Formats: sequence, structure tokens, C-alpha cells
Amino acid sequence: MNASFHKVALPVPLRTTFTYAIPEYLRDSAQPGSRVLVPFRKKSLVGVIVGFADSVPQRTKVREIAKVLDIVPALTPKLIELGQWIAGYYLAPIGEVFRAMLPPLTELKTQRLAVLTQAGRDATESLSGGELSHGLTAQEASFLEKLKEKKGAWSVALAMKFAGNANALQRLQRLGLIEIRENIQGTKRKIQRVIAWKASGNAHADGALAEKEKKVRTLLETERGPLPLPQLLKLAEISRALVERMLRDGLLESWEEPLDPAEDPFDAGYEPPAHELNAEQETAFGAVRARFELGEFGVLLLHGVTGSGKTEVYLRAVQETLARGKTAIILVPEIALTLWIGRQCRAWFGARFEGVAVLHSTLTDVERAREWWRVRNGEARVVVGTRSAVFAPLQNLGLIIVDEEQENSYKQEETPRYHGRDVAIVRAKLEGATALLGSATPSLETYHHARNGKYELLTLASRVENRSLANVEIVDLREDFRQTHQTSPISAKLHAGIQECLAAGTQALVLINRRGYSWSVLCRSCGASVQCANCSISMTYHKSRNRLECHYCGSVQPVPKECPKCQSKYVYFFGEGSEHLEERLRKEFPGARIARLDRDTARTKRQYQETLGAFAAGALDILVGTQMLAKGHDFQRVTLVGVVSADSSLSLPDFRAAERTFQLLTQVAGRAGRGELPGRVLIQTYYPEHYAIQDAVKQDYASFFEREMHFRRLMAYPPFTSLANVIVRDTSLEKAIRWARTLSEYFSPRDEKGVRILGPAAAPLARLKKEHRFQFLVKSPKRSVLTKLLSGALSFCDVKEIPQTAVLVDMDPLSLL
Ligand code: ADP
Ligand code: ZN
Ligand code: ZN
Repeated sequence: MNASFHKVALPVPLRTTFTYAIPEYLRDSAQPGSRVLVPFRKKSLVGVIVGFADSVPQRTKVREIAKVLDIVPALTPKLIELGQWIAGYYLAPIGEVFRAMLPPLTELKTQRLAVLTQAGRDATESLSGGELSHGLTAQEASFLEKLKEKKGAWSVALAMKFAGNANALQRLQRLGLIEIRENIQGTKRKIQRVIAWKASGNAHADGALAEKEKKVRTLLETERGPLPLPQLLKLAEISRALVERMLRDGLLESWEEPLDPAEDPFDAGYEPPAHELNAEQETAFGAVRARFELGEFGVLLLHGVTGSGKTEVYLRAVQETLARGKTAIILVPEIALTLWIGRQCRAWFGARFEGVAVLHSTLTDVERAREWWRVRNGEARVVVGTRSAVFAPLQNLGLIIVDEEQENSYKQEETPRYHGRDVAIVRAKLEGATALLGSATPSLETYHHARNGKYELLTLASRVENRSLANVEIVDLREDFRQTHQTSPISAKLHAGIQECLAAGTQALVLINRRGYSWSVLCRSCGASVQCANCSISMTYHKSRNRLECHYCGSVQPVPKECPKCQSKYVYFFGEGSEHLEERLRKEFPGARIARLDRDTARTKRQYQETLGAFAAGALDILVGTQMLAKGHDFQRVTLVGVVSADSSLSLPDFRAAERTFQLLTQVAGRAGRGELPGRVLIQTYYPEHYAIQDAVKQDYASFFEREMHFRRLMAYPPFTSLANVIVRDTSLEKAIRWARTLSEYFSPRDEKGVRILGPAAAPLARLKKEHRFQFLVKSPKRSVLTKLLSGALSFCDVKEIPQTAVLVDMDPLSLL
């Protein structure tokens, strides 16, 4: 091992790390996990050190690391290990894996703070008793005392000045008396002034003043305890001048406290529900605790019907984890859910003592970086977030919860194509922690593992307080059409149902699976549909923005007045999306208060909060939206859920279509009747006979599982086999074909016992973002065989000089498009 060369992962689409030399003066600060600035070709790139290089490339000249960016390595050793596992398992470029794990590179400067540790505080205590512990020099001792006076934190630059030199700081750090932390500038917490009653003060004996003083005293001593100044002024109805006077008189004392960084107006007035666990929850929680007692890695599946109170079990599990001095991550599938669960966590675990951090993609880079470093610095011990929060840099991790583990949103559909749930399990394994997966409709893979004993199965079979599951009815759209001869996406039955809700003053959710106004623009003359210029997919019409958008590559076009192919004037819009549905609902129910929630209306955290908050508070009657409404929400006054088109997901060329449809419908049904009012669900469909729909109507997971497993076994699909989708792509059709042919030279002879290879064939999405795409489906019952075969394929591509970016491996794909 040679400590003067480091392996650095760089954000380039190549499957290797790069070796850099480390100049003498940087040697102490460069550690595995530190981000570094390095020269790469003609640029400078930020990468991360992932280990020491044991050999140095012979032919090329090794360049030097220019700068070490983190004094505290951004990544913990376990996270480096995790990143390496991901790169290996998903055959992903290692630099891109680490880029996904690192905090955003904000232009903000980080500030380094020297912070007094508990041991440091203890040492200063004994100093004031005249003792020099730890073999401290007098100068070091006086440094510690000064640091303590400065509230225990100094910028490193300042600390350096007082300590004399860098070595002195390092020595104190080694002794564990101080810690160096990274702070994102601008994270300086807001300070508030807190006022308390000073027991030693002498109050006025009588008069008007005495009355006021008494009031303040009662408030601060018995009723509320120390209060922030503005609150005191309001509650005691006194002037600021009086407080100042009482401070001077020694009746009060004051100090400064940071405002809670996680304080959120969303939290104002929020009281978390507090429930005694019911018998089923108690049993499940008991099993979680028993697992903690074992103190080793394990996976638990909490299979609980919708409304069975899984969240309550999660929160207890987190509480138990914290009580054991460990940290926890809660992964949720939707940004909107981070808001709910985040708020519950802050209420349960109090931001000040067990800081809660929330990580998701609508945070600005600055916010995300700040939350990230709070976690890294140990200021937050609970992290709530979406997929990438699985990389939260917690130490001493005890628990990872994956709520709604079956959700597609856990799968990243761009490089690195990892699955958040599977990474969570691997991380738990590396850290000796517990993974707790929860769902009403577990993925087939997960339930399969739970049944064969690989995971421990915990069950919540009934809703809390024995509430009944919603009553699900099918609306056969063929029948509806025969009777009404209308093609409105809102059937007569759904219309009547909503009417009833409005009359009763309860709420309705209406779901549609596509956003936009119309998802196809067709020419009546020649039949052509308007396609994206970059993708083989039709453009979606967005009425309010008055343009066509491609939902795959984001490109836009003006709305055509005539057919781009034949110039006929007869273009028409076809296939209704959420924007259109909202418009219809407004027309059909003019008095109702209606809002829409989808990726077009909710682009920021505030927009989510406003809409969801308004709906939860009863300020809305109907909420229409895409599947983001289906997941996890606990709206108590919803009595009707309508699903406008249950079929569109069934017809996709995808072996998971039935599973996805069943899960979505069951989840949706779970949003109705969660409070004291019973719920009703209307599913509109053209295929009422399909087993995915039939089982969803009965909300019968076991039945669906059996039928679907039968089909998967017959067709040799997961969980009976491991599957990978290999895509060969290029903007030039000719090159894409050539490379697909070349790659099939490698695959064809290997299509034999134990391995099945289909392809090359044009991918269902034959063109995407200007690239032509061909695919191979590779299956093997043995995962290790598959991994070896694919890594062989990639090496083969290197030999044949197929560019690495042209071949994309999607391991355990969720979608075969
Ligand atoms: P799930 O995630 O399983 O669908 P939730 O965790 O959202 O269900 O809980 C559903 C509702 O039941 C919530 O309003 C929650 O406050 C309430 N709840 C949870 N546990 C209990 C309990 N033991 N007794 C009564 N109500 C409960
Ligand atoms: Zn035409
Ligand atoms: Zn496109």
C-alpha cells in the first residue's frame, strides 16, 4: 500500500477510477471519502478519494491532486464500501455512482468550525479546578477556555490564530477535545433570545408593576418555562421596555438559542396523533424490538393492509433505535410523503435534541447541502427522504425503513440505475442494521423472500379500530358508453358518486394516470400523430402553457394548426390527461372547490404543502391528480376515490403490468374511508375480467400473489430468474445497429443452459433523446452467472471499441421500455 497515490472516482461515464499523486503538504488532509479537485484532461473536476492505489499506472504520468475540499471526509468508510458495491452490482460507472452519493456542489463556500466536544467541556471543568488533564500545555488549556467562552465554536481560521498553529489544533482534535466540522455558509442558524425567571431576583412588593411581574413570573416559572422573547411579550401582554428593566433589576435572565433549523411553518399548530398500539401493532413492534436485541443485520417485511397503522410502528421503531444510541433513515416513495412523515418525526423526536433532516429533490442545492452536512456532522439523527436519502451520511446506523417498498420511484431510471430498496438492504447489511420494509402490496420479490424465510414477515391484517376496508366497485366503461353514449372520462356512476360527496360535505379523490391536457395529437386526414423530434413517442398537449411537450426528453413544440405531415387542418386532440380532467370536473361541479396535484402543478415543496394542506384541512372538496395521490396519504374525510382509467397501465408491453395495476388500485382504494366515515372506490375499466382488477376489487393480496407467481414461473421472470436489460444506443442508426450486431457475437454463443438471451430487437421506445435503441434481455436463475456474463459483455465492448456510453445495463429493470 502506498499512501502517496490515491484512487479518485470522477463524475465521468467510465467504469474506472483514476490514480492521482498526493503532494506532501496535502497528505494529512486527504483521506478516503474526501472530495478533491483534480486536473482531468484539460479540465478540473471534483472527485472523491475512494482508496489508496496499490499500483501506479506505468505508462502515463501521474498527475497531482490540486486541492482537498473536505476537512471532514464527505463519505464515511461504509458509504465508500456501499458505492463500490453499487458500481459492481449495477455495472455502473463508479464516478457517477459516487456523484449520486455526494452532497450537491454548491458554489457556496463551506466554513470549517472548531467545535468543543463533551470531553473538551469536561476538560475545561477540571481546568477551573486547577488541574491540567490530558497533559495539556498552558497555552492549550487557555485556548480551550476561550473556545468555551465563544459558545464552543470557532471558525478554524480564528481558532488557528488563537491556538498558535495548525499542529496544536490537530493535537486537540486527536485528544478528542475538539472536533472539526464542515458548515455550509449561510447555515448560520438564526438566533433567538430566550427569557427565564431568575430565582434570586427581588420583585416589587405591590403596585401595578408588581401585578405584571407576577404574571411574568407565573408564566416563566410554572406555566410555560423559559420563553422566546416575542412569545413572552405576547403572552404576558407587556412591553419590551419592561422586560429590559426586569433584566437590569436581576429579575430575569436571558440567553441566546439557535432557532430550530428544521422549523417549518408547516409544523405550526401541528399535534401528532398519539395512539396506544393495538394488539397487532404491538406484536409487530415486539418483533422489531426482538430483532434489535439480536443486534445484527436482518430484513423485516411489515405487510399491513392500507390504514392498518404502519406509520405508528415505524415511529416506535425509530424511537427505539434512538434510545439505543443509533440513527435511522426513513425512505418514502414521494416527495409529498416526506412532508407528512418529516413533520411527524419532528414532532416525535424534537428537532432540538434528535435533529431530523429531510432530503428530497425539490430542495434547492443549498438546502440539500445544508441538510446533508447537518447529518454528516451528527446534528440530525433521523433522516426522512426519497430514494437518494438511502445515502444519508449517518453514522452508527441502526435502522432503515422503506415505506411502500414496492414503489417504482425507488428505482433510479438513469445512471446509476440502482433500486433504493435493494441498496437500503445492502447498506443495512454493511452496517449491521435492520431493514424494515413496509407495504400493503409488497413487490413479488419481497413477498417471495418473506415466504421462504429470507425476510421475517410481520402482518397487520386489519385496519385500526376495526374500520372496514373501502368498498370497491367496478364501472364497466363499455356498459357506461352503451347507456349514455357519452365519452366523458367521468362515467355516470362516478359523477353521481362525487355529487353525493359534495352533498354530504365529504371529500373525493379522482385519479388519472397521465398529466397534461391530451396525450396525443392526431391528424384526421392522414392519421399521423405528432411525435417528438427526439423520441418515438407522441407529444402531450398542455393547454395552460399552450404548447406540446415530450414527457421523456422535455422538448417542446408550438401547438400545430395544421398537420405537420399533410397540412390538413383537421388535427384533433385525443386521450385526456389530468389538466383536462380538472377542467371537466370544474364544468360538471361548478360550485365545488377543486385542485389538481401532479408534476405540473407541484414543482416546489411549497406548492405541495399548500395543496395537500388545503385538502387535509377541508378547504377543498375534490382533489384530482396523478398517482402521486395514491400513495400513503392519510386523509380522514375522503369517502370516495375514483380511478378514471385503470387500464392504461395494463396494456404496456411489460411483464410487471399486472402487478403494477394491482398495486396501484389497491393503494388507491386504501385512501378511502380511513377516518370514521366509510369509503367507496369506483374503478373505471374496459377489462373488468382481468385478474389484476378483480383481485384489487377484493383487495386480496394473497390471491393476486398466487396467480401472478404462477405466470412468472411459467414465463421465467423475476422472482424466479434474475433479469437484465442491455440497451445499445447511438444517435446514428447505423452505428446502433452495428454495435448491437457486434454485441450479439458475444451473447449468441452464450445463450445456453442457465442463461437465456433475447435480442437484439428494437426497444419498445425505439428512439429516445435522439438515440436509436436496441435491446437484449438477459435472464438467468443464478444472479452470479448473470453478473459475470454482463461484466464479460462490457469488457468485450471495450475490446471491440464500442464506446462505454453506448451500452447501458439495467440490472433488475422495472420497466423494459
Ligand atoms: P397505513 O400506513 O398502514 O396505511 P397509517 O399509519 O397512515 O396507516 O395509519 C392510519 C391511521 O390510523 C392514522 O390516522 C393513524 O393516526 C391511525 N392509527 C394508527 N395507530 C392507531 C391505533 N393504535 N389506534 C387508533 N388509530 C391509530
Ligand atoms: Zn395529416
Ligand atoms: Zn422526446
